[in-house]
Amino acid sequence: MSEANDEVMQSVQAVLVSEAEHSLLDNEGKNSMSLFCLHCNCLILRPNIALFVKIEKELPTIVRSEENNALELLSDFWLVSDMFQFENMAFSKNVEDMKYLACAECDIGPIGWHNLIDQKCYIAVSRIRHQ
Ligand SMILES: [Zn+2]
Repeated sequence: MSEANDEVMQSVQAVLVSEAEHSLLDNEGKNSMSLFCLHCNCLILRPNIALFVKIEKELPTIVRSEENNALELLSDFWLVSDMFQFENMAFSKNVEDMKYLACAECDIGPIGWHNLIDQKCYIAVSRIRHQ
């Protein structure tokens, strides 16, 4: 009986998660809201441009210390296929086959990465604000 309850709870949680994701999406699977920097409110991207994708990627945690090298595993990203679609974005120097993305105003980052091979950009959903 308790196992069955656990299954019900898990499926309820899965529905809640997908509803939270759903409210971020328009009916084309793109961002329904604008993306802003969490720290300075700089506008990063306008609605209806980025595709929601699930991929696993480790990014350094957001801290302004060069000593810091902790990584955080993230899985929810906004895929932006053309870097010129950003309203504001700062790109790091090349780090192997990518660049890290940071807020152009306050330099907080990384909020995502730019793949130098296919030229696509990925913004971490948990590292920006939707409004
Ligand atoms: Zn900022």
